[in-house]
Amino acid sequence: MTLIEHIRAESARLAGLCTACGGCVRACPMTPYAAGVGAADPAAVAFGMRDLLRDGPGTPAALAWVAACTRSGICTPACPEQIDAAFMLRLAQWRAKGALGEAPRIPVKEDTQFSPKVKAFARLTLTEQEQAEWL
Ligand code: SF4
Repeated sequence: MTLIEHIRAESARLAGLCTACGGCVRACPMTPYAAGVGAADPAAVAFGMRDLLRDGPGTPAALAWVAACTRSGICTPACPEQIDAAFMLRLAQWRAKGALGEAPRIPVKEDTQFSPKVKAFARLTLTEQEQAEWL
C-alpha cells in the first residue's frame, strides 16, 4: 500500500467512525485562533472536517480549524467514540494541504532555513572528517 492509499484508507476509516458531534472542537484550545470557529456550531465544524476526509471540500471554518491544529492532542480524550481525534485532525490537515495531489486549501509553511538548521545541528554531532565528507 502506498502512503497516499494509506492516508485515503485511514481517512475513510476514521470518517466512518466519527459522528461529527463536535466534542473535539469544543475541547480544542486553538479555536480562538481559527477564523470563524469560535462563532460556529462545533458540530458543523466537525462535519466540515469529516467532509475533508471524505474527499469533500470541507467548509471555511473546518479548514481554519484544521489549519490551526498544533497537535495538542486534547481532542482525543474528548471524543466519546474513542477515536484518535488528534490523528484524524492530522489527516485532515494533510488532506487540506494537498497531500493527495490536490491544490492546497490552507497555507503550507515551507521552512527555507531547514537545510542550514540540519547542517548546524550536524556540526554539533559529527566529527571533522564526517563533516568534510557529508556536509
Ligand atoms: S472525532 Fe470524536 S469528538 Fe470529534 S466530532 Fe468525531 S466523534 Fe465527535
